[in-house]
Amino acid sequence: TPKMRRVLVTGGAGFIGSAVCRLLVAKRYRVVCVDKLTYAGNMASLGSIMGRPNFRFVGADIGDAAQLHRLMRDERIDGVMHLAAETHVDRSIDSPAAFVETNVLGTVRLLDAALEHWRGLSEGKRAAFRFHHVSTDEVFGDLPFDSGVFSETTPYAPSSPYSASKAASDHFVRAWHETYGLPVVLSNCSNNYGPHHFPEKLIPLVILNALAGRELPIYGKGANVRDWLYVEDHAEALEQVLIRGRAGETYLIGGRQERTNLHVVEAICDLLDARIGGRSHRDLIRFVADRPGHDRRYAIDPSKIEGELGWQPRESFETGLAKTVDWYLANRDWWEPIRAGTYQGERLGVV
Ligand code: NAD
Repeated sequence: TPKMRRVLVTGGAGFIGSAVCRLLVAKRYRVVCVDKLTYAGNMASLGSIMGRPNFRFVGADIGDAAQLHRLMRDERIDGVMHLAAETHVDRSIDSPAAFVETNVLGTVRLLDAALEHWRGLSEGKRAAFRFHHVSTDEVFGDLPFDSGVFSETTPYAPSSPYSASKAASDHFVRAWHETYGLPVVLSNCSNNYGPHHFPEKLIPLVILNALAGRELPIYGKGANVRDWLYVEDHAEALEQVLIRGRAGETYLIGGRQERTNLHVVEAICDLLDARIGGRSHRDLIRFVADRPGHDRRYAIDPSKIEGELGWQPRESFETGLAKTVDWYLANRDWWEPIRAGTYQGERLGVV
């Protein structure tokens, strides 16, 4: 039985955070979800657990250290999983300030709240407490197409304002461990995909554009390589890092499923051809000018989390992608308001 039972999850109305909340609620943790509901937050993603006795939603900004400290104290929190962030690379290129505000300053303020809470705990509870920072492999920057993988010792070399802000937050989290003794764990994960993914990101954007008969924009030649992980596999890895990760350690999370962007888009087209037919969805593919500072390739060596925590993903890219396409086909009520409302006319971003 895990020692950790009362967990505060930030960003729990987002894509990965909602998967984490669903998993932890099913596993009988007490889950307190904090989210300020930016454009990316969606209460509908928490619909299946709202009203459960072991789940509570609090609308708050992670930057409100006083409120977050009170919440941790009143809820007797013994683990924080920090996922709240601005997450879209294209938005970070257009307006980087929000990324500094939430990802860097917000994280520092949340660390302050957690440190104050941790200092007030009994000695036994202090040793078991964890502040888990959920981060990305993008902090390591660009890999060549044909060689190399990221490991826990790879030097940081972020390319975009998004990855720079996540890199900075990683450093602050480690500093709170080295300087103040806060028991932190970090995880850096490859690209996630799956249900409840906001349709500005590659996979849901392509599924929904294809369903609407709209163009499928691909940056450059579509040769960029990402290492894809199904979101529920990530959520299970995050639980293991939280309850069994050693304080001060970093764990890289990935599923050894490298695919080019072009392959990803073509695979979605083929799944849709098989499920709804009517046309060749590949005909909708359009190559557009590349994203500035576009990293060529990310790849993760997950040996440490596999060996130390015994974690393995359940889904391959093919099985996970089929589940994802089927989820979007069956859950129009989740995505139709997003496509029809706020995002009407706005540039949804290209992949
Ligand atoms: P998301 O954009 O879907 O969700 C982010 C959530 O954070 C939203 O619900 C939003 O409302 C909330 N939020 C934003 N600013 C906030 C603030 N100041 N206070 C409180 N809540 C705030 O993001 P995601 O894809 O679920 O990513 C979650 C975390 O995982 C992020 O930290 C991201 O860097 C990291 N990550 C994501 C991926 C990926 O492929 N999506 C991969 C590795 C790591």
